Amino acid sequence: MKLPKVRELLEAIKALITGPYTSKFPFKPHEPYPNFRGQPVYNQEKCVGCLSCEEVCPAEAIGHEDSADPSNPIRKIIHYTDTCIFCGCCEAACIADKQGIKLTKEYDLAFFDRKEASESIEKELQLCEICGSVIACKHHLKWIAEKIGELSFSNPTLYQSRLKSLGILDDNIVSALKDHGRSDRVKILCSRCRRDTTLTTR
Ligand code: SF4
Ligand code: SF4
Repeated sequence: MKLPKVRELLEAIKALITGPYTSKFPFKPHEPYPNFRGQPVYNQEKCVGCLSCEEVCPAEAIGHEDSADPSNPIRKIIHYTDTCIFCGCCEAACIADKQGIKLTKEYDLAFFDRKEASESIEKELQLCEICGSVIACKHHLKWIAEKIGELSFSNPTLYQSRLKSLGILDDNIVSALKDHGRSDRVKILCSRCRRDTTLTTR
């Protein structure tokens, strides 16, 4: 007769005392292991809307839609859970101290309609004060200004964003010229309008 190996025997005795390794899912919620990598989730407050996560995502599971409507300029950042491979690159690349998007232990992601397989957040956009094109999210400009400190005073877009976020500056800086000229240089501008207002002789 073949005798059981000692290790298997010990495992069997241990299982008798500690109970089974498996959980009773779906009758009881399953508790994933501590390092389990589940669905990433955005943090509306911490995310600055920079799109680094979209840039690095190997599965193209992150996208965004910008609305440059002056009455409500919004960037919608969308995470597609049906495409995500839970690799964690988005969290690793997040400039907001890895807090803008974080992997969770969420694994129960079944859905009937594919439209349900996404989650999104919205961040307010900063538009160019001359041409109305998208510059970046307001939160992102504020984050850069805070990060580089006094160096931001070399860039009117950054220091004006910072002053506006502090409520020090209002929107009443109006150019003396009908068409944009050098007096517009202290506005929040996209790179094209910044170049035009800097190089113009008007
Ligand atoms: S976990 Fe990986 S695949 Fe999923 S959104 Fe983040 S970077 Fe993309
Ligand atoms: S702050 Fe982080 S989560 Fe937000 S867009 Fe940038 S990289 Fe993505």
